[in-house]
Parts: sequence; C-alpha cells; structure tokens
Amino acid sequence: MDSKYIFVTGGVASSLGKGIIAASLGKLLKARGLRVTIQKFDPYINIDPGTLNPYEHGECYVTEDGAETDLDLGHYERFLGIHTTKANNVTTGKVYHTVITKEREGAYLGKTVQIVPHITDEIKRRMLLLGNTGDYDVIITEVGGTVGDMESQPFLEAIRQLQWEMAEEDLMCIHLTLVPYLAAAGELKTKPTQHSVQALQKAGVHPDIIVCRTEKELSADIRRKMALFCNVKPGRVIQSIDSWSIYQVPLNMEAEGLDRMVCEHLGLNISEPNLEALKAFLERLRNPEAKINIALVGKYVELQDAYKSIEEALVHAGAACHVKVIVHRIHSEFLDQSNVADKLKDMKGVLVAPGFGERGLEGKIVAIRYAREQGLPFFGICLGMQMAVVEIARDLLGWADAASTELNAQTSHPVIDLMEEQKSTTIKGGTMRLGAYECELVPDSLAYRIYGKELIAERHRHRYEFNGKYLPDFESVGLKASGRNPRTGLVEIVELPSHPFFIGVQFHPEYKSTPEAPSPIFKAFVQACKQ
Ligand code: GLN
Repeated sequence: MDSKYIFVTGGVASSLGKGIIAASLGKLLKARGLRVTIQKFDPYINIDPGTLNPYEHGECYVTEDGAETDLDLGHYERFLGIHTTKANNVTTGKVYHTVITKEREGAYLGKTVQIVPHITDEIKRRMLLLGNTGDYDVIITEVGGTVGDMESQPFLEAIRQLQWEMAEEDLMCIHLTLVPYLAAAGELKTKPTQHSVQALQKAGVHPDIIVCRTEKELSADIRRKMALFCNVKPGRVIQSIDSWSIYQVPLNMEAEGLDRMVCEHLGLNISEPNLEALKAFLERLRNPEAKINIALVGKYVELQDAYKSIEEALVHAGAACHVKVIVHRIHSEFLDQSNVADKLKDMKGVLVAPGFGERGLEGKIVAIRYAREQGLPFFGICLGMQMAVVEIARDLLGWADAASTELNAQTSHPVIDLMEEQKSTTIKGGTMRLGAYECELVPDSLAYRIYGKELIAERHRHRYEFNGKYLPDFESVGLKASGRNPRTGLVEIVELPSHPFFIGVQFHPEYKSTPEAPSPIFKAFVQACKQ
C-alpha cells in the first residue's frame, strides 16, 4: 500500500492542542494495526528550537538520533510509543537553508529562485520524505502556527499543490478550531471557525474534517450549521471537549468517530483499534490510592511547558505506582538556606531540573543539600545531577568554591567541566552532546536495581560533564559513579548508597517515558517518594 498523508492545520487561536489531536489520531490508527508516524512543520526561521529559550518555545525535546525538536514530538512519542527522528521536525529555517545552499552550488541552473516553486518544492519533498521510506502506512503532518499567519503560507501552498497531485483517497486535511462559549450570551459561537475555514480555503486548502475545541457539548444543530458554512460533508464536524487528561483525548476522538472517518476517506478497511493498554493506564490514573507532593526545583516555574516531558514522566510513573503526583514547582532563584525547610517541608521528594546558565543555581544546591541531609528522595537530571556533584564537593569535600566551569571558569575545583570535544566548538546550534548514548551500570548499584540490566541507552543534551579526575575524592566521601559511558568512561550516573534514594543522571530519562512504558528511573523515584 502507498503511504497515506494526513495534514493537521489549526485556526482561530494557538495552543488549541493540535499536537494532542494529531497524536490522538496517530494513536487510534496505530491501535488499528497501521504503521504510523507524525511530523511537525514549524513556520519559524530558526533551524531548530535548540537555540530558543523556554520562554519562547517551552521545552526543547530531543530524539534518539539527537535532533533538538518541538515539544509536540514528545506528545507523538508518548502517545504512539514510537521514536521520531531528525526528519520528523522541519522548520522554515531548514527549508530555506537547503534551498539557499543548493542555489550557491548552482543547482538551479541560472533560474530565479522563488517561493513558488522552489521553496514549496522543498517543503513538499520533506512532507513526502518519511512516506518514501516505505516504513509507514500513514504520515500525519502537523502544520505549526495558525491559518492566516504570513509565515505558514508556503506550507499551506505546498498542501494545496499536493491536494491536486495526489489521489483523493491518499491525502486528507483536518482543521482544528475553537468554538468559544460566550457566557454573557449563553451561547457557543461558530463565526470564528467559519472565518478560519475561509482563510484556509483562500489558500486553496480544503478541509475534510473540522475538529472543534470547546468547553461545552456541540449540539447536532451547531454541527450541521458549521458543516454547511464550512463546506464539509455533514457529520464531518466533530468536537474535542476539554478533558481531565490529555491521554483521554484518543478515546474522546474515537467516540466522535475521527479514526473511522479517516479510514473511510483514505479507503482503509481495517479492524477496530485495540486500546486496552491505554484504558488500563487511564484507569490507574483516575483511581490513585494516595497523593504525594513532589518538588520540581527549577527556574522556569511560571512556564507551563518548560518541563513538559518531566511532568509527563511523573504522571506516567505516578499511575504505575498507583499514586497521584502533585508537582510543586519551586523557583530556585528564590530558594535559600533561610526558607528551604519551609518550602520543602511537605514534599515527599525533590527533583532538580535541567537547565543552562547561572540564574537560580545556588537555590538548586540548597535544595539538594536539604534533600541529602533530611534523607528525602532526590533525583537530579542533567544540570540537577551536576549541581549535586557541586553540592557534595562543597559540603563533604570542603571545597568551598567548587563549581561547574559553565558558571565559574576560575574555580580551583572544576568538578564539572566542559567536555573535551566542546572546547573547539564556537557555533551554538546543534553542537551539544545530543541524542542517545549507551551507559553501563555498575552491578549492585541503585541504578542497576532500577533498570534491571547492565547496558541502557538514554538521551542527552549537554556540554559539561563530571570531571573524572576528582572521582577518587568523591568516592572517599561515599558518592558512587554507578553508570558510565562504555566508550569514553564519562560518568553518567552518581548516587549516594548511604542515602535512601539519592541519584543524579547526566541524561534525560524523561524523553523516553510513555504512559504504557514509564521510565524505570522516574518510577523508582516516585516509588521511593511514596514510601
Ligand atoms: N548546562 C549544563 C550543560 O550544558 C546542563 C544541561 C542540561 O541540563 N540539559 O552541561
């Protein structure tokens, strides 16, 4: 079978959850036995979001093959249990970069290089790329931004062209909009959706299904009206009502018939979806035996999406341990010796977040010391692990100015130092140590007990590392290096065997956690917090 292509666009407002809808549809099609992948096309000029700070773009998600991507790829992986790759996230920056590089090579043979057809040809090539591998039956493409934005025009133009180039049953478009409820009028309003579809049609793209985000049920009447005004078949307007969990959305979409409509349109005659594992997860999520408070110590507390994968991994781990994890984001910038006991007194565990730069670092160290001294479960990720090493150097080894050279290049004890291969790097984009690397676990360690095997692979995103020359000193005060890269010896995991649960990891286990296969280390941390 040739690959089928589904495009998901959004209108009226951003943040409607296009990624969740795309991932939910992907989940339903995969649960019907299809080989599905999802890709995201982002309209900004950055080559990737790796250089964007979380205030701009939320979390930067990292794939196995080391791509720094949009956080929606995290949803795709979590919902579908698949691995995405560099090819799954395309930006306008990447498209232009390719075209301009080709132009410099003389590949356009003297032609004037233009948005149509050269940019749109490159967009189409990338839209079809994963389909051409033969590995997938269905490719879902989420188009970032909102219809009507100047920046997303070339993407829509590419879809318009593909609608003509491909057979009708090989391609379809789903448009996500918002149907706002006006409390004063006591009414749901369809006009924004009508305008949004008009904008889409002006670009020549014809939606086959309209999905409406809404806080109240859409009546049959409203749906009929929207189908009529928006030029789609009756019945092809469905609702996505606010839900108690994002993981419930696939079931809501199934109840609305989204996957059935898609299969009908694409001529896919296949079995009903098997959603048993998802349902079992939701059952556990809905009926926790207890609630536990966990502190997430970082500097982006006010941003909803800055620690997306970590918060999702805690949800997965909580369900696996039959508890509801209540995450308390604690601002590390305002944490100090005088208030730490007060701020952490009701917490059952402390997770210190990844990060870059100096702001809030001392607060992270204060939180780590408190957890270490109070015997509170501690889990440090990347910068969180690095700061645990600094904390122990300062307090147990007595090296008062111990630091990471990221923050203090002059320190007399650079316990965390720039990796050798980073020393010659001047370019910032895509040059960190990125993606999955193997890690060998020491038998008879907490890490080994957690993973239950000697060799694991987790994903990375960092420039600094544990300075191996100090390892004997750290061992003398009881800090154990329980995981190392088998090739380079780089210390990837540190732990304190004398503590009930104190572990720091250089990698980001949150990226691989899914509802149906929670990250072992998140699960162990939550289990330790529960006890
Ligand atoms: N800033 C640190 C480094 O580059 C940690 C990075 C992170 O937490 N992802 O090594």
